[in-house]
Amino acid sequence: MNVRAQLSMVFHLDKCIGCHTCSLACKNLWTDRPGTEYMWWNNVETKPGTGYPTLYEDQQQYRGGWELEDGKLKLRLAARATELANLAFNPRLPSLDDYYEPWTYSYRDLFDAPQGAEQPVARPVSMINGRDMEIEAGPNWDDDLGGSNIYAANDPNLKKLTPQEQQDFFGLQQLVYFYLPRICNHCLNPSCVAACPSGAIYKRGEDGIVLVSQEKCQGWRMCVSGCPYKKVYFNYETGKAEKCILCYPRLESGYAPACFHTCPGRIRYLGVVLYDADRIHEVASLPDAELVEGQKSLLLDPDDPAVIAEAKRNGIDDKTIDAAQRSPTYKYVRRWNLALPLHPEWRTLPMLFYVPPLLPVLATVPSGAYELASDFFTSLESVRLPIRYMASLFSAGDEEKIVAVYRKLMAARMTLRAESVGDVSEATAAEARDTAGMTRAEVQEIYHLTSIADERERYVIPPFLREQAISMLEDPQEAQQHRGAGLVQIGKRGL
Ligand code: SF4
Ligand code: SF4
Repeated sequence: MNVRAQLSMVFHLDKCIGCHTCSLACKNLWTDRPGTEYMWWNNVETKPGTGYPTLYEDQQQYRGGWELEDGKLKLRLAARATELANLAFNPRLPSLDDYYEPWTYSYRDLFDAPQGAEQPVARPVSMINGRDMEIEAGPNWDDDLGGSNIYAANDPNLKKLTPQEQQDFFGLQQLVYFYLPRICNHCLNPSCVAACPSGAIYKRGEDGIVLVSQEKCQGWRMCVSGCPYKKVYFNYETGKAEKCILCYPRLESGYAPACFHTCPGRIRYLGVVLYDADRIHEVASLPDAELVEGQKSLLLDPDDPAVIAEAKRNGIDDKTIDAAQRSPTYKYVRRWNLALPLHPEWRTLPMLFYVPPLLPVLATVPSGAYELASDFFTSLESVRLPIRYMASLFSAGDEEKIVAVYRKLMAARMTLRAESVGDVSEATAAEARDTAGMTRAEVQEIYHLTSIADERERYVIPPFLREQAISMLEDPQEAQQHRGAGLVQIGKRGL
């Protein structure tokens, strides 16, 4: 056992209201510089939908992540030798059209236009070349199912459904959507790191945050192709790759990342988990059906004396172990089994987990109403379509995993309804808890963390002993040059 500490995240999708505050907080903080206009380190997609960049989930096209070949784990992109041969031309990159061409407006025209009979207008202007442009796409073009027959109908996850089922899925009474906020998953087995020929992307030893060294990056963009979630971006001004840094300067000061801190839906949870680094390769090589359980089993019980002893032997300090014992993410993922990784079949072992939204299931009960039906568990059979869709997103196709989560979420709701509203009988709630394998105490804990926990419980940030971590490895002044989005030396293309 080789115990390491890793920051991990949970997003509770039933709580996301699709307000995009998170995206804007991130944009204002990190990507309002030249060359970064099209980047959204945090974006919020409507599902079903094709996402940002469009169709990023189609790995036939982009070849991101890992795959098994004769039982062996390999980058889907190519072997390192082939990758080097293709350095000058990489066909697996999203184009600017797949993201969108960023624009602003000619606001000056509103002030400088000569007097006339008509109101002046501010026309859209490309932020890439300054020319007038027609807006044809945006990072969130299909928000709230806008253009669903064009965008949502092309969602790669719908391929698991027959044409008739797809048609049913979009039937008017069935039409329902939810939001999927995405940031870099700070994966345990990051394919972006493995794909980089320059060794410029690395995982911080003490907390697992994945960063790009701006000094070492040569701009080959293999990381952009290698990441199946398309969460590394190319800065066309500096010629370097950039990505979500999990707001590590904020974390090191004890603050949650900006997208977490500003989220009005309070859907985000952050905590440290202890994991067994010796098992990463073994777990990433498991068959699809075993990936979710395998990934969960990597996370170790922070209260287990043997785990604590090994953690200490590896130099993990007491305060980090204490943070792991209070981690909200460990509770959601391991203790309650409510949160699942996005597309585990890409085998990067993402450390961002999602509680699947219950709404699409409730909204498609036969009566068409959002209701707490007492026959909910039998009615799960009649909502196989959304369950199969969720399974394509969160459990490598295993529908039982999704049903198990839904049983728990529903039993928790029924228990609380029985207690506070009284429209569900206690006997029905008790039966639901038995079916889901939950105790009343567990329901109360889930309710507390989901609905009323304050930010000290939602974000359990371990103390960052950066000075200790850095001084063990290199000169702190030297280390300062390799972090984050800034540049000590200006890239060849200038700024
Ligand atoms: S999600 Fe983040 S850590 Fe994972 S492969 Fe993509 S860029 Fe790398
Ligand atoms: S994650 Fe939070 S901030 Fe972002 S869209 Fe959802 S509710 Fe809004």
